Amino acid sequence: MLTFEEFASFCNIIEKISSTLELAARIAEFIRKIEDDDDLYDVVLFLMGKVYPPWDERELGVGVGLIYEAIRIATGINKQKIEELVKETGDLGKACEIALENKTQLTLFQEELTIKSIRQIFDTMSSLVGEGSQKKKIRMLADLFISASPLEARYLTRLILSEMRLGVGEGIIRDAIAKAWAISVEVVERAYMITNDLGKVAVVAKNEGKEGLEKIKIELHVPVRMMLAQVAEGIEDAVREMGKVAVEWKFDGSRVQAHWDGEKLTIFSRRLENVTKALPEIVGEIKSNVKGNVILDGEVIAVKNGKPMPFQHVLRRFRRKYDVSKMVEKIPLIVYFFDVLYYNGETIDYPLYERRKILESVINESEKLKIAKQVITNNPKEIEKVYNDALKAGHEGAMLKNPNSLYIPGKRGKNWLKLKAVMETLDLIVVAGEWGEGKRSHLISSYELACIDDVTGKLQTVGKVATGFTDEDLEELTELFKPLIEYEEGKRVIFQPKYVFEVAYQEIQKSPKYESGYALRFPRFVRLRDDKDVDEADTIERVARLYESQFGKKA
Ligand code: AMP
Repeated sequence: MLTFEEFASFCNIIEKISSTLELAARIAEFIRKIEDDDDLYDVVLFLMGKVYPPWDERELGVGVGLIYEAIRIATGINKQKIEELVKETGDLGKACEIALENKTQLTLFQEELTIKSIRQIFDTMSSLVGEGSQKKKIRMLADLFISASPLEARYLTRLILSEMRLGVGEGIIRDAIAKAWAISVEVVERAYMITNDLGKVAVVAKNEGKEGLEKIKIELHVPVRMMLAQVAEGIEDAVREMGKVAVEWKFDGSRVQAHWDGEKLTIFSRRLENVTKALPEIVGEIKSNVKGNVILDGEVIAVKNGKPMPFQHVLRRFRRKYDVSKMVEKIPLIVYFFDVLYYNGETIDYPLYERRKILESVINESEKLKIAKQVITNNPKEIEKVYNDALKAGHEGAMLKNPNSLYIPGKRGKNWLKLKAVMETLDLIVVAGEWGEGKRSHLISSYELACIDDVTGKLQTVGKVATGFTDEDLEELTELFKPLIEYEEGKRVIFQPKYVFEVAYQEIQKSPKYESGYALRFPRFVRLRDDKDVDEADTIERVARLYESQFGKKA
């Protein structure tokens, strides 16, 4: 049985390593030695700062405030002093560690923490709801801190906040699993895209090796990573690359993956969250118009008086947990399906034009459930017409797909291209903010943004956005971000990274001012992308590519 101290000591070692190769090698060595399957599962998730896979509906529901309170109870150190520690270290984990080193409270009863005991406590915490649950969580957390060593407290806190600061992202864990059991990275990657659970992938790799991973199949009601699109360079280019192109409208809504077995229906969002309960009318439509045993891929859009409503409305529906029926009237939804991944117990490893036939055979179109129209052509004029029609109908543009391509989960490749009218925006993680001046002094009115290094998972700042917000936006955003404040430095507030903003900008420049080495010129807030997780934000690589492409355009 693995103790939490062993885990924390390991984290402490790798925290100092910056080479991704070495990180993967060290992690491989560490996980290979874990005998117990459950411990292996948990360690893999914990190293990435996750307690559950993304599609699991459970969450700890512990914010910064509860941690402050629990630490105060466990150490006897007052809140003000703890706040000072957080400011000094810039890291709530380190602050908790120091608080434990200096605790004034006498500890009577200390229990050795293990990976298993922590898992059990986490599961209990995430099952607590309703009145009194906050109090119980604080008590449980305080007990944890009472039993924890200072080093354990550092990583416990960071784990609870999903911010391990180890520089270990999915890519490194994937490579470590491959290395630990001598399996190719591609095989591990594929298993991950299908299960969305690296813990599970590690356990199968350990027990059944490469063959086990290859046997992993798409399963109904377990979400699969969605295939993604790249930006089209132009229509002519696409025709040259693909020959014939399957052209569809690009609907401006929110992605859904529907798993329907004839009895049970589960709908997942782009973030692989279970959104079935929020979409009763879509559920009804699928149940009555789709043949069972399929996984469908599509886009839900909001429509009023025949016109698509802005994309934010769809997200409001997705977020809604209570009084869903009121929202059904306010924001009516329809769904367009454009792909199928699984049919009658089989993963569909067929090209798009074959999948399309299955799609048409399983769906009976209705007013609210449609198959995205598709034109297959090599004529640029025809493609342009579809694109213009889409814009006229109030949609975003067109998707150009290779009719001979397979559905590759999680892949952002050349087989799906998006053609949009507007300039490419960036989706960036909000890491800090600043209180406004004068009339806006009660509002957080500027936000600092970061992109992600998708190998290490580290966040790197690229700029600040302070325009594009309405006062209403700022009110809403301030409410949203307040619970995420880890500490304040004068007017500046540092957030737990949780939300993604879409921002437009005039230009990307090289700049030493921000960690990424790039800076956005005239950034403007477009919208909150709360359909996107932090690890889906734009990467430093994309920023660099956009930077380079500016010269292409200017030349
Ligand atoms: P983007 O979010 O800009 O990378 O564009 C890709 C997204 O467009 C997908 O994730 C879908 O949510 C959405 N989309 C809208 N219409 C289609 C379509 N016909 N085929 C594929 N994706 C579509």
